[in-house]
Amino acid sequence: MGLGLAWAVEWLRLSAGLMEEHRTELIELDRPIGDSDHGENMDRGFRAVLQKLQDAPPASPGAALKLAAMTLMSTVGGAAGPLYGTAYLRAATSIGDAAELDAAALAAALAAARDGIVARGKAESGDKTMVDAWTPAVEAAEAAAAGGDTTAVLMAAAEAAEAGAVATDPLVARKGRASYLGERSAGHRDPGAASSALLLRAAATAAAS
Ligand code: ADP
Ligand code: MG
Ligand code: MG
Repeated sequence: MGLGLAWAVEWLRLSAGLMEEHRTELIELDRPIGDSDHGENMDRGFRAVLQKLQDAPPASPGAALKLAAMTLMSTVGGAAGPLYGTAYLRAATSIGDAAELDAAALAAALAAARDGIVARGKAESGDKTMVDAWTPAVEAAEAAAAGGDTTAVLMAAAEAAEAGAVATDPLVARKGRASYLGERSAGHRDPGAASSALLLRAAATAAAS
């Protein structure tokens, strides 16, 4: 059995819950190396996604992710809004109008999301951005996809993203606001990598439920 509309909607709902729950933590991460707004930006964006889900319920998983893309693009602002907007839009395009995603389609959608972030932000691995959560997540998802279990694919992605976010701590930022600090950006976790890990955790939890 693949993952369908119910999973996609649950993913977005759980994402909104985690953004609200971790709002302060993401703000605190953005304080020393940014402008202290990441938690606020993400919470605002996902609140708007929840509202949109109620007002215009999507009919397919691809439509749900497209709804998220459009809403995040117009409500998150800053660097993260266009980056996440592009990620969800590319994932939606990868899914197309399929009713269900199998393990391979899921890994492909995550890869499309990551590629969208890279195309938009031009960050490479090790630049201390959300890409450092997404790239290990995609690699883990692709490796797990061979087993054919959709929940296992998302669990592997979430774990790898969490490890990737932790691994940004010692890095010197080369993209985004944190890069203005140069060497002084080392010793702090990248807020976008942290929020990306939470979003992928939400995807896994939605699949397991
Ligand atoms: P802003 O920096 O405009 O206030 P946010 O605080 O919402 O925006 O988001 C900051 C996050 O965006 C960073 O932690 C980083 O993960 C991500 N980011 C910034 N620039 C880039 C980029 N060029 N490529 C990938 N991610 C980026
Ligand atoms: Mg910020
Ligand atoms: Mg800002």
